[in-house]
Amino acid sequence: MTQHIADTTVLHNGVKMPWLGLGVWQTKDGDEVIRSVKAAIQAGYRSIDTAAAYNNESGVGAAIKESGVSRDELFITTKVWNADQGYDSTLRAFEESRRKLGLDVIDLYLIHWPVKGKYKDTWRALEKLYRDGAVRAIGVSNFQVHHLEDVLSGSEIVPMVNQVECHPRLTQQELRSFCKSHQIQLEAWSPLMQGNLDIPVLTELAAKYGKSPAQIILRWDLQNGIVTIPKSVTESRIRENGNVFDFTLSDEDIAKLDALNENHRFGPDPDNFNF
Ligand code: NDP
Repeated sequence: MTQHIADTTVLHNGVKMPWLGLGVWQTKDGDEVIRSVKAAIQAGYRSIDTAAAYNNESGVGAAIKESGVSRDELFITTKVWNADQGYDSTLRAFEESRRKLGLDVIDLYLIHWPVKGKYKDTWRALEKLYRDGAVRAIGVSNFQVHHLEDVLSGSEIVPMVNQVECHPRLTQQELRSFCKSHQIQLEAWSPLMQGNLDIPVLTELAAKYGKSPAQIILRWDLQNGIVTIPKSVTESRIRENGNVFDFTLSDEDIAKLDALNENHRFGPDPDNFNF
């Protein structure tokens, strides 16, 4: 059971990835992202999730340098954007991300969305980056079971991570068991349902454990073996979201949260997006 903010899961290639990280989608480049990332690192976070599409890799890079924590203690994820998919263009996009972040090696590089007709060529580029040692782990995001089956057929490397929308209203049971059976670590985006936390079961469990609704969900992620990356630009919430290692939800309460599933997405459907 995870008991410390720096605790890690071990990906199938042996690389250690923290169970908890800071998400920075919609966090503004410059002062806002620098303050958020530094506050998270100060609070003990060791993992940051950005993407080329978030337009804040430069600020993330600046914050890492200013944080005073050594590079090898941090785990940095970024993602190749849809418009850059394809073999050569992915390699070029990677160089741009690496330059903006000011890093030689990226810890985890993900395909942001399964762009039809392109994601397998993109995956070959990620395999090359991995073999070249430019990235410590590679993975995908927003891949459904059929996308994963497609990548697994004919590829040499099994993705180490699949980052998908996942929270009590979208528990992703089928995808989770598929990933588990292939040693693909599931990672939850929008774990806090983009701030829509007003659900009676969450309020009830928050009161029972003396925690906040956000903390209840994040603990549910951890106890389910799901890596989680809550986003906040608010220092007190960043600390709050990191303070989920001192209590344990009972099996019965985990089941209550599982039962909130209604396959509800706050974000786009990976089988039907047009960007
Ligand atoms: P989250 O589910 O993490 O929710 C963030 C929202 O919740 C913000 O409005 C934040 O407000 C608020 N919030 C944060 N902490 C608390 C708290 N303790 N109590 C109450 N409200 C809180 O949303 P995201 O969509 O940002 O998802 C998290 C991360 O996942 C992203 O930042 C990104 O890194 C990744 N992601 C990946 C996607 C992909 O396609 N791969 C898609 C979407 C997200 P405030 O900031 O004002 O404090």
